[in-house]
Amino acid sequence: MEIPVRNPRTGQMDHRVAVTDTATLMEIAARLRLAQKGWRALGVEGRVAALRRLADALARHQEDLAGALTMDTGRARIARMEVDGVRGSIAGWCATVPGQLPEAWIQGRSNPAIRHAPHWVPYELVGVISPWNFPLTLSLIDAIPALLAGCAVMIKPSEVTPRFAGPLAAAILEAGLAPVLALVCGDGATGQALVDAVDCVCFTGSVPTGRKVAVRAAQRLIPAFLELGGKDALIILDGANLDDAVTAALRGSVLATGQACQSIERIYVAAPIHDEFVARLVAAASKVRLNFPDIGQGEIGPIIFDRQADILRQQIADARAKGAMVLTGGEVVDHGGLWLPPTIMTGVTHDMAVMREETFGPILPIMPFVTVEQAIALANDSQYGLSAAVFAADLDQAAAVGRLLVAGAVSLNDAALTALFHEAPKQSFRDSGLGPSRMGMEGYTRFFRRQALIAQTGRPAPLSAFAEEAGG
Ligand code: NDP
Repeated sequence: MEIPVRNPRTGQMDHRVAVTDTATLMEIAARLRLAQKGWRALGVEGRVAALRRLADALARHQEDLAGALTMDTGRARIARMEVDGVRGSIAGWCATVPGQLPEAWIQGRSNPAIRHAPHWVPYELVGVISPWNFPLTLSLIDAIPALLAGCAVMIKPSEVTPRFAGPLAAAILEAGLAPVLALVCGDGATGQALVDAVDCVCFTGSVPTGRKVAVRAAQRLIPAFLELGGKDALIILDGANLDDAVTAALRGSVLATGQACQSIERIYVAAPIHDEFVARLVAAASKVRLNFPDIGQGEIGPIIFDRQADILRQQIADARAKGAMVLTGGEVVDHGGLWLPPTIMTGVTHDMAVMREETFGPILPIMPFVTVEQAIALANDSQYGLSAAVFAADLDQAAAVGRLLVAGAVSLNDAALTALFHEAPKQSFRDSGLGPSRMGMEGYTRFFRRQALIAQTGRPAPLSAFAEEAGG
């Protein structure tokens, strides 16, 4: 069976992807499990060397990969950045993980005759299910640390953006990693089959699908690490540098056409600076260009998934009907592919979908607030808790507000920093996810189960030591 693939710049179905049937997927899983034993035995230094070969192979396939990603996503610069970013991520993990897991014996505190030593046992087979917004980055973000941990990995990219799988598979083969790293293609049914085949699943995608994956994983009693949607709030306090706030708000909302989990989707501005902020943001947004007809210019690419355009149209219509004013943009432009210019709205309330539901597009709804407590309450009035941002006159003030936000990462005096800086461990709060941090060393250690070796250095206790005492 094949699935047609839409080109987001033309709207044409100009590619087809062959679906991996369930029987084949199960065979691949069995093969990966067999090869995992040797991969684990290789030791971390051997795996680092293999991952470095993969980074080199990705460099050799840079053009093919970036070309496929450009076709998948309708954007060229970010496509190249994805390839560079993955190579950088491999280099970063390879430089960090060797020597990280202590296995030395530890003297018992409660019983000095007993010693124990930790042993780190990787999951045999890790499954990765990835979304369409950053196809290469999000297919490999969990796969790289999992491979370094000694796991085999099976990846299912989104059927919406699967073209890069061909050149990626070629790079994997060239690097000699094909025995332990496989790609399977297909839609939700393939994703479901993958969950049934693995020992641990890493899922990046929407809340509704994440919930399905979590339920399926729970039935199998395997861990599910979920990185889901968000509705990130930006709070701008009186006294903040307005030019910086405008720069960060625009970039945070519009970069990658807003199709990023950590996009700023709601802006709360202190009432005294609200009008000035809005005026400056409108001026800045009016300079933003679509990357149409020339892909080599402009900041805004097409909406990758056509169904997402319906969500954007619905949120704009709902906000208008309930009294919002649309100051810029507001209409999805149809050039075959679909584009939405930055859409700034005021007069919004939390009764509108645009303030409550994930948007995943370049829409910037702005609300004034009177007290800081009110701003915090508004920001926290959400089912999501992925990330947030605060601008203030000084960092201590911004941090004090940030600590009160129910979000896993808070950018201070900037926005969406989790897209640019990957060293800080963070979890996703509320419905935005489940499981340990994918950033920092926890992003590596989560792929191990802890085995304890517990050694008796004295004599084993006899059963009689546990006999009931007379009259006891
Ligand atoms: P979806 O949840 O629709 O899909 C994600 C993946 O799950 C796709 O590969 C999809 O396959 C697959 N899938 C669909 N149904 C099932 C199922 N029943 N079992 C297993 N897998 C299934 O998300 P989108 O692709 O639409 O991605 C956008 C979402 O991703 C947004 O909500 C965004 O916020 C979130 N996201 C979160 C990030 C984070 O780090 N927190 C980062 C980036 C995005 P197919 O597409 O082939 O149908």
